[in-house]
Amino acid sequence: MSEHDPTEATDDSAETLFERIIAREIPADIVHETATTLAFRDISPQAATHVLVVPKTRYRTVAELAAADPALLADVVATAARVAELEGLDNGYRLVFNTGADAGQTVFHVHAHVVGGEQLGHFGR
Ligand code: IMP
Repeated sequence: MSEHDPTEATDDSAETLFERIIAREIPADIVHETATTLAFRDISPQAATHVLVVPKTRYRTVAELAAADPALLADVVATAARVAELEGLDNGYRLVFNTGADAGQTVFHVHAHVVGGEQLGHFGR
């Protein structure tokens, strides 16, 4: 890992919860699936609609995914757009990749949060 990697201090070598969801070892409320991605509802929704989109291949962060497999990152974004359509988020939605500890990333299998279904406040602290 580079000395500038924001996730460097995190011990994240173990299998994550999301690999177990992808393998159907633990249940999830799945809303859409493609050959390369899976979308399921966040267990602790922060808005009326809150869906997570993961690549089936694990990369820890969106930066790592972008560097290693840009086509797979495009698949994640396309799945997020499809989820927004399926969920009727016609007025817009937010797509968030928390990256590293300061952003509050807790699961080190890259995931896009698709958040919407209501007027969202400006984000930050
Ligand atoms: P992060 O903070 O960006 O890493 O987001 C991790 C997300 O995973 C949080 O929004 C959690 O609510 C969500 N989460 C944790 N466990 C589960 C689960 O078992 N199913 C669905 N979502 C989960």
